[in-house]
Amino acid sequence: MVKETRYYEVLGVNPTAGADELKRAYRKLALKYHPDKNPEEPEKFKLISQAYEVLADPKKREIYDKYGEQGLKEGAGGGGFSFSSPMDIFDMFFGGGGGMGRGRRGPQKGKDVCHQMKVSLEDLYNGAVRKLALQKNVICPKCDGEGGKKGAVQSCSNCKGTGMQVRIHQLAPGMVQQIQSVCSDCNGEGERINPRDRCKNCSGKKTVRERKILEVHVDKGMQDGQQIRFGGEGDQVPGLEPGDILIVLDEKEHETFKRKNMDLIMNMEIGITEALCGFQRVIKTLDDRNIVIQSIPGEVIRHSDIKCIPGEGMPRHRNPFEKGRLIIQFSVTFPDNSWISLDRLKELEKLLPPREAVTVPIDAEECNLMPFDVRHDKPGQSSNAYDSDEDEMGGGHGPKVACASQ
Ligand SMILES: [Zn+2]
Ligand SMILES: [Zn+2]
Repeated sequence: MVKETRYYEVLGVNPTAGADELKRAYRKLALKYHPDKNPEEPEKFKLISQAYEVLADPKKREIYDKYGEQGLKEGAGGGGFSFSSPMDIFDMFFGGGGGMGRGRRGPQKGKDVCHQMKVSLEDLYNGAVRKLALQKNVICPKCDGEGGKKGAVQSCSNCKGTGMQVRIHQLAPGMVQQIQSVCSDCNGEGERINPRDRCKNCSGKKTVRERKILEVHVDKGMQDGQQIRFGGEGDQVPGLEPGDILIVLDEKEHETFKRKNMDLIMNMEIGITEALCGFQRVIKTLDDRNIVIQSIPGEVIRHSDIKCIPGEGMPRHRNPFEKGRLIIQFSVTFPDNSWISLDRLKELEKLLPPREAVTVPIDAEECNLMPFDVRHDKPGQSSNAYDSDEDEMGGGHGPKVACASQ
């Protein structure tokens, strides 16, 4: 019989195993020990690959069976041979002939699964670890993804295992149309299982749903839309390397700050007194500190002035000590109409800068200033605008004052 059995043991098969059994054994183990999924055991992955490379090749298998591993090293024909890289074997297996192989672009991978995760601006500023519970398909542990007892799975005769059916539809004499549809006998599975032999755990579906908790590390400075990839954590499908789970960050709106790359932008309302005579404000930062800002004595803050505080913006991803700016857009609020008596207004005027002297030509026409409504300022609606303005005039002055400042 055979000299050594280590390679057979590595793949968990008997020395009498046929090519299909070897393939199946390799497929299962290679997916299990692929470094993306199991980075702790690279030696195991390598050994599986070597065992398969030898046993899948009838010539090498013969040498191994007769002379063992030493025989392979010395080589029957002299010189021996060197093993291919485990990745190449893996790619050849999953990208080439095996299973649904189509195209040769690396291993056949299942679909990536995307999940959105809402994160607050505080999370993105401070970093956070969030646990995310997901449902995913895993290979049924009872039947190892076979769907039933060993040998119970048969290729569908109707579609010859392709899962697709082609019907020829005659449109007109000489004109036919090929219609491809999912095979009705096997529902596109390409194989059939006798109901009696069907795995009860997964009802022959080969996979079962499993709850999975992912620990998502949100790093300081990450951005809205940024992806965090969990390699090989996607749905498992028999014969395919599982795809990845992608967690896509979805930044929640913040009530104070708006983010633009590394900068934070906020609006700050100050009254006219503060704008002219000075102001002080306390801002609560995203890491819950209080920072205080104030104007320089004598400084006037104008409406829509923009100022910034360097180093109080968002941290840079992977270099969180570097921070952007906190940009403050000021809006100056004015008092309501008639907030002060006309007498005292005259006193106030004495304190304010002198008004512009205006000379009115004798022939100047006097016009009325009306409240301006943006919604009525569309071309083609101008006649309506006049109508409604007249209505408003009849009703007296409304409380809203728009665009009063210069
Ligand atoms: Zn099962
Ligand atoms: Zn079929």
